[in-house]
Amino acid sequence: MTATTTPLPATVAASGSEHSRRRVHVVGGGPVGLMVTALLQPLEWLSVVLYEQRARYTRTRMVHLEPYLIAPSVGAYRAIQTDGDDVEAIFDPSEVEQGVVFRRSIPPDLMSLLEEWTVGFCPLNDIEQSLSDLIAARASNPVEHSASTVSAQDIMTVIEPDDIVIDCTGRKSLLRDWLVPASETSNADGNTVNVELEFALVVTFLYDQNYSCNELCKYYKNAENPHYKFIPSVARTSHDGNVSHVTGIIHITSDEAAAMPPHFDGEWLRGNFPEAAGSMERFIDKIKAETHGEIIGDLQVICIPLNLYRARNATSRLYRTAESVDHPFAHSPVFLVGDSAVGSPYFQSISLGFECAMYLASLVAQPGLPTGEMLDLYETHTYKQWLRVYMRSKMIKHDKDVFEAVDDRYALLELIHLY
Ligand SMILES: Cc1cc2nc3c(=O)[nH]c(=O)nc-3n(C[C@H](O)[C@H](O)[C@H](O)COP(=O)(O)OP(=O)(O)OC[C@H]3O[C@@H](n4cnc5c(N)ncnc54)[C@H](O)[C@@H]3O)c2cc1C
Repeated sequence: MTATTTPLPATVAASGSEHSRRRVHVVGGGPVGLMVTALLQPLEWLSVVLYEQRARYTRTRMVHLEPYLIAPSVGAYRAIQTDGDDVEAIFDPSEVEQGVVFRRSIPPDLMSLLEEWTVGFCPLNDIEQSLSDLIAARASNPVEHSASTVSAQDIMTVIEPDDIVIDCTGRKSLLRDWLVPASETSNADGNTVNVELEFALVVTFLYDQNYSCNELCKYYKNAENPHYKFIPSVARTSHDGNVSHVTGIIHITSDEAAAMPPHFDGEWLRGNFPEAAGSMERFIDKIKAETHGEIIGDLQVICIPLNLYRARNATSRLYRTAESVDHPFAHSPVFLVGDSAVGSPYFQSISLGFECAMYLASLVAQPGLPTGEMLDLYETHTYKQWLRVYMRSKMIKHDKDVFEAVDDRYALLELIHLY
């Protein structure tokens, strides 16, 4: 693997030898990188450098965060989970307890933002801008910003022994493929485990009435849709309790996906794939007839493969061997957090990334914790989160398949395995 080198801003490159505090390099200032930074900034024995290539936060898509992020007690955490049995099976009670105790230590400025975001949907760039403003406004321990696109080589050059590197660069992670020493590379897909679930159209729109939809509603509003089914997830927006945000998924084939651009509007869909558009429109007409509302603005449609993936190694622990002693990652632990570590298609990813950020911050906040132990604990925690996401995503996919075949007894039996 080769890396291109972009010169780092003078402040970051020069400050390496001058610091006395432990340096943390957070690469990527999306929601998760900003959350990690906001969690670590109050620790006065750390000096945090945040690398972000974008000059402005412009992603307006609406996202939903899970209320379990602010659970004040173990009881509340358990009660809020939609996959509570999986959580019980995978995590020890002490781990759940530890997570809740950490939440109680989150500074009030950050906690009040989390409380706001876990009510309904809110725009992604609101989350990014508010976190960025919060980090800038804090009086003590300013964060150093590097406004550039960094390469893996840049990071390896700038780090010093004992620095911590946190890669939050998203799905196409900057460092994921660098976490396996050359001598250990045996998998064709490098350091990524990929599970393809389906191709889908993801349709989003705002609706000017408070509206909700359970499984019966999803079934009956699709009754005249023999082929394409529009399966919505609905919640109010965080800004206005009377406006609903709807995200609907329509399953399509890989051939259909290949014939579509990555994003388009309702009109393009009507013109090019009228049957798929018809399924959605029949559904929306029924919502309107029931609740007497209107769509605000236009529909936004994206065509994406819904994949599940994880980093086989979410840390640099493979470098802690005698053969790797000369590699920069042998002496500076690297952690993947957010979409760089695990990606789930049915949209709980930011909450998952925030939870991993909280866990990592709880480890970094223990200055006496040996690095090897920190790497092992984070690796285990990320793997457990993956198991949880995998089980939940497979269950959703299976339930969707069953839903689509529910009126065809033989197709339905093909999909289930009883014993
Ligand atoms: C249509 C759609 C709807 C979604 N809805 C939801 C939802 O409702 N709830 C939810 O939880 N998730 C949702 N998601 C997923 C969510 O947007 C992602 O999980 C989330 O953005 C991941 O955050 P992140 O910080 O890990 O990575 P990203 O958001 O990808 O941020 C990575 C950051 O790193 C920066 N970066 C990358 N490389 C470099 C480099 N070399 N140098 C410097 N900077 C770099 C990028 O500029 C970017 O700012 C949705 C996704 C889509 C596509």
